Formats: sequence, C-alpha cells, structure tokens
Amino acid sequence: MKKRLIAALSLLMLFAFISAALLGGPVSASPSPYSTNNTYSGTAPKYVFLFIGDGMSTPQINAAQMYLGNRESTGTPAIKTLDFTKFPGVGSADTYDAESFIPDSASTGTAMASGYKTYGGIINMDPAKKTSYEPISKKLKKAGYKVGIVTTVTLDHATPAVFYANEASRGNYYNIAAQLVKSNFDYFGGGYFLDPDGKKANVANAVNILEQARKSGYKVATTKNDILGLNNGSGKVLALDPTAITAANDSYSMPYELDRKTGQLSLADFVRKGIEVLDNPKGYFMMVEGGKIDWACHANDAAAAIHDTIALNDAVKEALKVYYQHPSETLIIVTGDHETGGMSIGFAGTEYSTFFEKLEKQSRSYVEFDKLVAEYKEKTKPASAKLEDLLPHIKSSYGLISATDADAGKNPELVLTDYEMVRLRDALRKSMSASKVTSTETDYLLYGTYEPLTVTCNHILDNKAGINFSTYSHSGLAVPVYAIGAGYQLFYGAYDDTDINKKLSAITKVR
Ligand SMILES: [Zn+2]
Repeated sequence: MKKRLIAALSLLMLFAFISAALLGGPVSASPSPYSTNNTYSGTAPKYVFLFIGDGMSTPQINAAQMYLGNRESTGTPAIKTLDFTKFPGVGSADTYDAESFIPDSASTGTAMASGYKTYGGIINMDPAKKTSYEPISKKLKKAGYKVGIVTTVTLDHATPAVFYANEASRGNYYNIAAQLVKSNFDYFGGGYFLDPDGKKANVANAVNILEQARKSGYKVATTKNDILGLNNGSGKVLALDPTAITAANDSYSMPYELDRKTGQLSLADFVRKGIEVLDNPKGYFMMVEGGKIDWACHANDAAAAIHDTIALNDAVKEALKVYYQHPSETLIIVTGDHETGGMSIGFAGTEYSTFFEKLEKQSRSYVEFDKLVAEYKEKTKPASAKLEDLLPHIKSSYGLISATDADAGKNPELVLTDYEMVRLRDALRKSMSASKVTSTETDYLLYGTYEPLTVTCNHILDNKAGINFSTYSHSGLAVPVYAIGAGYQLFYGAYDDTDINKKLSAITKVR
C-alpha cells in the first residue's frame, strides 16, 4: 500500500515536471528575447560596403572625435562626430576568439568573413587547420556580385586575406597572394605584397604574383596615373599604391595619413576608384580596411592612430555618396576587428584634463621619426651620443621642447619636465646600445619592441595630451558596429563578431 502511494506520487511529480517544461519552463525551446536578430525579409541591397578599422574600437573613435572637436572649440568640450558614428544602426560586437579573450586580426577577420571562431593566426580555417571556411565575399561573387578588397596595409595581410584565402598561417604571404589571383575578384586596391616572389617562403620556381595576376587577366596598375585612369571598363584590376611599392618602404603599405604627402593617394582615393570600377547592374561587395590604426596603436602613437581613423571616415564618405544615390539598395557597415594598445582617454598625470591640441604638434609618425634616429645612430658613436643632438628633431616631430629652448616661454605646456628628460636620456642610451633587442622585462615594459627613443617620445606626448596606452599588443575590448541602409536594423544590440557575418548573409540572402 505504502509502495503504491510513493509510485503514484512519483508519477504525479514526473507529470507535473513535464507539464511545466512544456508550458515554458527551463527546458523550453522558444527563442530567448535576448538573442540577436539575424533574420531579414527585405530586398537584398546591391551595394554592400564593410569597413574595418583594424585595431579600432571606441577609444580610437572617441579620440579622433575629440581631437577634431577640440581643434574647433573655443574652450568648452565639444566633439566633432565622424560621419559613420551618426549611422542609425548601432551595436556592439564581442571579439574573443577560440583560444583567447584577446584575439588577432586573423581570427576576428575569419569570424566576420565566414562566421566561425578560430585560433589566432589562422586564415579562414578551423582551429585544427583542416576545414576551410567559405567567406561571404566568395558567396557573393558566386551570387553575381562583383567583389572589391581595399586596404592601407599589404593585400596579403590577415584582414584582406580572410576575404579570399584559406591558409593555416597568416604568415604564408606568398600562398595567400597566389589565392588572391585565383579568387577572380574584380578589384584589389591599396598596399603591395610582402613576398611577391616567394623568396621569404623559399618557394622553388615561384612565379611573381603580378605576373600571375596578368596571366589571369588582371590589369595591374602601379602608377598614380594608371590608377586614376582606371574606369568601369578596366575589367579585373590590381591597383597598387606606388608609395607602397617604393623600395625604401619595407612595410609595403600605404603611408600613414599623418605622413601622406600632397599628391600621394589616400584610402578614400582607392575606395572612390573601386566604386567606379565595380559599378554594374548586379551590384558589388567592397571590404575596406584601415589597417594602420592597429599599427599606430601597437607603437602607442596616438596622433598617427587618430589621423588614420579620420582617413577611414573619409573613405566611408565615398560609400555614403553611393548610399545617397541609392538609399534602399545600399548597405554600409563600419566596425573594428579588435582594439589595439589598450588606449585610454585619461592619464594619471593629467587627472581629469585632456590637451588634444598637443597632438596637433606631432608632424610625423613614429616610423618617420625612427628614420631620423637611424640616421643619427649611423653617424654617431654610442659614447658620444647625447640627447641635445636630437632635441631639434624631437621639437620638429613632436613639438616637445627643453626648458632651455628659445620657445620654452611661448609654449610652456610643451616643455619637457626633468623627469621626462631623464626618460629620454635613458631611452637614447638604450637606442644607442649594441643590442636593440629589449630583452629584459623592464625594457619591454618601457619600450616594447620599438626604437626606445621613438616610443618614449610618443609616450611623453600622448601623456601630456591626457592619453595613455596599457599594452603594445591588442586588448579584449568589444568593438562598436555602425550600419546604414538596407537591413541596418539587424545591427542593433550586443552580439558576437560571428553574428556580423550571419547578419550580412541574411541581408544579402547568400548561404
Ligand atoms: Zn595588431
């Protein structure tokens, strides 16, 4: 009797549990109200732009807006908004990858291009390096879109590569470039290649990448005139910035915006030309990377990062012209792949104040200042090196002056303090030492892997302006996502970077 009662009670409890589950209890399968919206029922846009600021998150964008606003303001804090921050669709994307909260451009690029999380360093493959993912750009090409890839860094770099290649390591530049040629995409513009002859990779009988491209029907433009002469009838195009190909430029990238001379091509020029080349009745997809925001932040060079962020916005303005002509047929997305430098607006030494106007004094990027230091090292014995020799260069490059400088009275805010002079003298000693390698922990914390004198000048000017960096690597911050045009509503809210790919797939209706 007792046993039967227990059995009956147990049955009753089981029934109650199942009922609760069916009525929406904890095992319910109904979608969470917090899940991001990756479905779209509108018409697919014809003109799709994805702008990626490498290393660009909220600090880089805010700093650029404050720098510009401060330049025009009359004392009260005012920002000048970058155009893309006014887009109606605004969200946030997490950037962690399959192995770390702090990702790299290969894994975050793979997430956006193909919708999968992988390990750092891998181009569009799974963490085991066995399965290749198909990027949205290739799917769109199959669906009839023309495809363009534009970057300020080399075309074989991680961010552009994830849109046309599958490779176990981002460092296999020759293999990646060979896949660029095979992609049959319609427009490649911007920087050059890091290993166009396969020398670094030791490839036997390697065929030059430009030769391969010509054989595959690409028109290769390497002068400003040839590039500006490209048009809608040019066919498949490889447009390589002449400044990036310059032999003295060992990064083979476009110049920093801060260093770009009048007459040299800009990122906006390459986007404008791409729009002209790609225009066709079936539409196009263009990925545009501002690749050196990342490099500037690795070097803790706030001014160079700010100018490259502004240059990215100038390139976005070219896409906006298409949007204004075809608002219902265009989609523009602007985001970053991760944050670089742990950049902060605020520094212990300046408390609640910022002095963005001090960054206006920086006339060249860390790369150009490095060249001045290299020249000095060439002609000077370490024992006879002294900071006083370099003060004129520091003044012309960073605006920083010593207390004995003739302009010290006029610009007291840019006078180097005793502490800063000590830091510069220590850094110069390190720069002049036989081994540039910053092998000790203290050296790494002070200088990273950069020229000690250069990075110290950057730190001093950054800090005087009220900006600080916490790392020479990337950070784990989420990135903002801005969207305008067809399907922009899908970009509301907080989601994963892989969702950017899923939203793009849904809006363009490719699977
Ligand atoms: Zn980086």
